[in-house]
Amino acid sequence: MKNSLLLNRYRKQALTWFILPAVIIAGWIYPPAGFLLLLCMIGAVGLSFFSGRSWCDWMCPRGAFFDLLFQNSRQNKPVPSWLRSKKLRAFMLGLIFIVLGTQLYLSWGDLYGMGMAFVRLLTITTLIGIVLAVKVHPRGWCHICPMGTLASWFGKGKLPLYIHEKCTGCGLCSKACPMGLTPHRDKETGEFTDPDCIKCGSCTSACPRTALSFAKTVTAQKAA
Ligand code: SF4
Ligand code: SF4
Repeated sequence: MKNSLLLNRYRKQALTWFILPAVIIAGWIYPPAGFLLLLCMIGAVGLSFFSGRSWCDWMCPRGAFFDLLFQNSRQNKPVPSWLRSKKLRAFMLGLIFIVLGTQLYLSWGDLYGMGMAFVRLLTITTLIGIVLAVKVHPRGWCHICPMGTLASWFGKGKLPLYIHEKCTGCGLCSKACPMGLTPHRDKETGEFTDPDCIKCGSCTSACPRTALSFAKTVTAQKAA
């Protein structure tokens, strides 16, 4: 049951990760392919109103790319606080929207020029993400991704993770979290509501006590 959840997740990620390099390569050959980036932006923000950052789990090709290709590098290391700072995230959001907006404005009406603005953005941010994945944390980029930041704002409080009483505080759930989050630290409140949770379920699979679920009661979790 637990392993099937993880296997299911890997299978879904295997279907999406390659879209990232494919769009980058296609975009440099045929720039209008860069408009595909809009689908990812709309998907991440649109879904956040219902289920927080769930898009970032396997539907985002870049998230799947980082999980599948870099998951063993530094996964158990905590995400440094500077990478999660509100100021840095707001700066990245502003910077990317200003840079993208300016390029779109200057090339307005030219499909190739506008597409190239998206391709450049996707290429540069992916390179930054790879450096972060190797040097800091596999999902380091996901903590400063502008779409992830917007999704965390709009999806705040959606689909919380419940920590049931049988939790022993062992911390195995936190070690399994691809986002470097620490659900076990919220044991006392019984609820983990970090807006950067991507609802992947890795922690629920890792818990030896079956103490975590997205359902409010353990009974409901078993039924699901
Ligand atoms: S793995 Fe389970 S028992 Fe251990 S801290 Fe996490 S929720 Fe609690
Ligand atoms: S807290 Fe659990 S569900 Fe949320 S991102 Fe981490 S492992 Fe996935």
